[in-house]
Amino acid sequence: MIPDYHIHTGRCGHASGGMRQYAEEAVKKGMGEIGFSDHIPLYWLPADRRDPGLAMAEEEFPGYIAGVLGLRPEFPSLSVRLGVEVDFIPGQGSTVKSILSGYPFDYVIGSIHYIDGWGFDNPAHLEEFGRQDIDEIYEKYFDLLCAAARSRLYDIIAHPDLIKKFGHRPVTPPLELYRRAAGAMAGAGVCVEVNTAGLRVPAEEIYPSLDFLRICRLEGVPASTGSDAHAPGLVGAGFSQAVDLLREAGYSEVAVFEGRRRNMIKI
Ligand SMILES: [Zn+2]
Ligand SMILES: [Zn+2]
Repeated sequence: MIPDYHIHTGRCGHASGGMRQYAEEAVKKGMGEIGFSDHIPLYWLPADRRDPGLAMAEEEFPGYIAGVLGLRPEFPSLSVRLGVEVDFIPGQGSTVKSILSGYPFDYVIGSIHYIDGWGFDNPAHLEEFGRQDIDEIYEKYFDLLCAAARSRLYDIIAHPDLIKKFGHRPVTPPLELYRRAAGAMAGAGVCVEVNTAGLRVPAEEIYPSLDFLRICRLEGVPASTGSDAHAPGLVGAGFSQAVDLLREAGYSEVAVFEGRRRNMIKI
């Protein structure tokens, strides 16, 4: 079974369950490898503006790392990787590096959840979609995605077309934006994440779409896999569909990471 590298836990304030429950679920499903990727503290905001329902507080970060590492001896049949999901905020690269330094991460996932401060994937802020032109929104989103890929901060770019989450889409598929994003990921040597959370939201489609993933394949972008589980039962959710999509796009292998070094395994 393919690895699930995108797993949150109760620490982030909007997921349920402790780490052990996620690992137990993976073992129950016969999986061989998982990785935790909880949200980094909201480092770009002053401490009094950090919503505890979005990410763990800075003082909890060492406990998160220790929690993941502590699972390894408890689950000898499971490879438990240490990851983290890190929002890309332009100009904040050195802050990210200093927060992550000194910890033995296996991989770092980069994601875009904000366009100029607008949390577009938050159901509380959807009205902004009615105020801006959808093509311009997509353009801005993909500009950020390209900058994230080129930032050299990340091993994996998460849910690469998250902007479609609530079903807001341009009239025609934005193939040129996909090409730009795939070119940026290929140039930087970062993975595109095949993330099954898209199946569980109004978009009803894995991130990325087949069109986008095909372009990634043509450009030579390696792929990684994740469920974006926010509850233990969702570990590995939708993975047979993820494998089908990967094969349809031309992929025969996916990435695994150890100490931020990548290897490929057959699917
Ligand atoms: Zn995310
Ligand atoms: Zn996530």
